[in-house]
Amino acid sequence: MEWEPIRKTPEQMAVQPNLINYDRVYAGFTWQSIEERLAGLPQSQGINIAYEAVDRHASGEKRNKLALRWLGKEGTARDFTYADLSAESSRFANVLHKLGIGKGDRVFVLAGRIPELYIAVLGTLKNISVLCPLFSAFGPEPIEQRLKIGDGKVLVTTERLFKQRKIAEMWPRLPALEFVLLTDAPSHVNEDVLSLPQLMAEASPDFTIPPTDPEDMALLHFTSGTTGRPKGAIHVHRAVYVHYMTAQYALDLHPDDVFWCTADPGWVTGTSYGISAPLCHGVTLIVDEAEFDADRWYRILEGQQVTVWYTAPTAIRRLMRLELEPLKQYDLSHLRFVASVGEPLNPEAVVWGVRLLKLPIHDNWWQTETGGIMIANYPAMEIRPGSMGKPLPGIEAAIVEKLEGGHVRVVTEPYVEGHLALRPGWPSMFRSYLHDEDRYARCFMDGWYISGDLAELDEDGYFWFIGRADDMIKTAGHMVGPFEVESALLEHPAVAEAGVIGVPDPMIGEVVKAFVALKPGYKPSEELRLELLGWGRTKLGSAVAPKLIDFQANLPKTRSGKIMRRLLKARELGLPEGDISTLEKSQEEEKVS
Ligand code: ATP
Ligand code: MG
Repeated sequence: MEWEPIRKTPEQMAVQPNLINYDRVYAGFTWQSIEERLAGLPQSQGINIAYEAVDRHASGEKRNKLALRWLGKEGTARDFTYADLSAESSRFANVLHKLGIGKGDRVFVLAGRIPELYIAVLGTLKNISVLCPLFSAFGPEPIEQRLKIGDGKVLVTTERLFKQRKIAEMWPRLPALEFVLLTDAPSHVNEDVLSLPQLMAEASPDFTIPPTDPEDMALLHFTSGTTGRPKGAIHVHRAVYVHYMTAQYALDLHPDDVFWCTADPGWVTGTSYGISAPLCHGVTLIVDEAEFDADRWYRILEGQQVTVWYTAPTAIRRLMRLELEPLKQYDLSHLRFVASVGEPLNPEAVVWGVRLLKLPIHDNWWQTETGGIMIANYPAMEIRPGSMGKPLPGIEAAIVEKLEGGHVRVVTEPYVEGHLALRPGWPSMFRSYLHDEDRYARCFMDGWYISGDLAELDEDGYFWFIGRADDMIKTAGHMVGPFEVESALLEHPAVAEAGVIGVPDPMIGEVVKAFVALKPGYKPSEELRLELLGWGRTKLGSAVAPKLIDFQANLPKTRSGKIMRRLLKARELGLPEGDISTLEKSQEEEKVS
């Protein structure tokens, strides 16, 4: 089925978007223009993300504005003004400084979404130490592995996680680790395991950010591990240019916005857009400590009067699965812009937004490696459901074909599949994979960064995601992208989620196989299987349609919500599961057929 393009209605555009004439802004864009809108450290001492995010506002008109509202699991809330965030993060920077932790030293954070985490992130950046956030649900192994690769010198965590994750046991194997700071220990445990509250109480709320070279390392972010072993991507302070610019154009932040990014800071979305970008714009940021819960989420959108909401396809699919009618049950009248990232956003989900939220969902594309949004659907632009949109101003994106000898050809014809590539040089581009320079070097060909994703362009310059290069299926001479098949299955009323892989076949190379999770009220049956097979053939044609369908209660996903097709495949073929450190454990899928 062809999806109709979506244009916003005048009511949906009541607030004038920041980006109205895309072509003109794209053509005239310079990074210089963004530099002029950033403050820069006083006395031209460089650029520091935390200064742009908090200190510049704390010393200006936004001093007493609500910067961060934290919603606790148990119903409590804590508010921080820009002045509060500035003072608290300065205390944390002083704590690090006093412990002898300085520029370039790695500070790891392992905590749920608690206020201390946000303060530690900003304080670490102020001290020009390097922040490496870990997902709090990680078990001991992935924690140790990342602390080791990242040469973690400080670990900020909670008493519970310190014990449960057996940090003391792994410590002898981590020679770089000097201190553990416990966010909730009333007093120091020993010389190396310290009480953060005690250290904070003794620290001054004044801290002068040292001169920061824009190329100083700021963040170490591990990728999601969807296709293999997670890689540690290095980001520098200059990345803030992209945080700022993309929040303006792709998320359309306006000064009075209340912004909610549902991503955990364990992933890059949760730092670039869950901390840096919104604070740089001086808006109010909502942080929810709790995990996904449809009613809670709608109540947050309503009660906090969220205006801009940045979430992920996995969350949207979960909301879709429940078939609630949010506008009948909640007052979402403040919500004006919804965006999504992390996985392909099925056209069905974009249209669900229009139907049930009266707002389309704006898909955008980027990666840990790119540090910020690269391709997006903008508020003023026609949305083509299933498309990722167009490159941000300042970002040159192309579809390229790999040729012999390390060369590439830029594909200019529409509807020709190729590698999604970016022209290096945007400020938030990763500077390397830590301790893996070779792998970094292999990402570049002929002056392009090759993303590892496949896509195509339409005749108007919209980018359409096809699949990860690693997930492509070769069947009877066709290359099939799982996204296309999954999206078609998702259009069936019984289907909540689908993950599609290729199963080796001696005759046709690979057979397309789909794993399907059903919506509540539907039960796996032979009849439904046949119906879905037929549905696939009608929608996709027999060359592309799945030949095999299995039902599963839940699909294996990364903790950031991405379907792990490589794991579906390994399990199907009885092969080793590989690195599953990022596998979401709470939803351990159980096979029901
Ligand atoms: P790993 O690199 O370790 O396998 P990962 O690629 O999932 O993990 P991330 O950097 O978190 O790690 O995710 C980026 C990837 O997510 C992109 O390369 C792309 O495959 C997918 N992705 C993100 N946004 C979109 C989108 N809007 N549409 C389609 N795919 C997307
Ligand atoms: Mg990747």
